[in-house]
Amino acid sequence: MSLIFPRRCVLCGEPMPLFVKGGAMICDECAARVRQHYRCTEGICIDGADGAAAPLFYRGAVAEAMKRYKFSHYQHYADWFAAQMTAELAARLEDWQPEVITYVPIGMMRRYQRGYNQSELLARAVAEQLKLPCRPLLSKRMFVTMQSQQKSPVQRRRNASRAFAPANQDALNGKRVVLVDDVITTGATAAAACAVLRDMGAGRVYVLSAARVR
Ligand SMILES: [Zn+2]
Repeated sequence: MSLIFPRRCVLCGEPMPLFVKGGAMICDECAARVRQHYRCTEGICIDGADGAAAPLFYRGAVAEAMKRYKFSHYQHYADWFAAQMTAELAARLEDWQPEVITYVPIGMMRRYQRGYNQSELLARAVAEQLKLPCRPLLSKRMFVTMQSQQKSPVQRRRNASRAFAPANQDALNGKRVVLVDDVITTGATAAAACAVLRDMGAGRVYVLSAARVR
């Protein structure tokens, strides 16, 4: 396929040069732009999490790429986002000492329509790179209103707190868990997922997201 259709830069969509070093997925110009404009260097605070990190700011070309990834079947973008997240987690391995990676679940209907859970693909790719187990620990409760339809922070928090349940009977027995999310907006969704993981017996819970809204 790639012989007929040249690969395109994940961020600007321009065709990539035929021979790129190390399987790069973005062009040199966009790589420079990521370093200058999109690299998230701020600390992130999530209620109930022992730490949180995201390699990218959710804006401009990164936000557009994330939308294509989530809503337009650009499933292969997972590789690029996951590579950013892997580097972020690799820098924290000593501090976080993760034992298991999991992800924010999506509803069954959404999963069926989209064909994949965007956070699950990211979690699996990160886990594979770092040789960590990836397990589905959480499930989405049915009939919970979409988080994006909740306008006020209070509504978002209340809605999010009902959104998740343990996916199985597994006890986490004090394990250190990394929860993978796609985008952190207010942090209400991640906080709700962290609370359930704690109830399941997680010793420490960390949040790793591809991007955060500033
Ligand atoms: Zn580009």
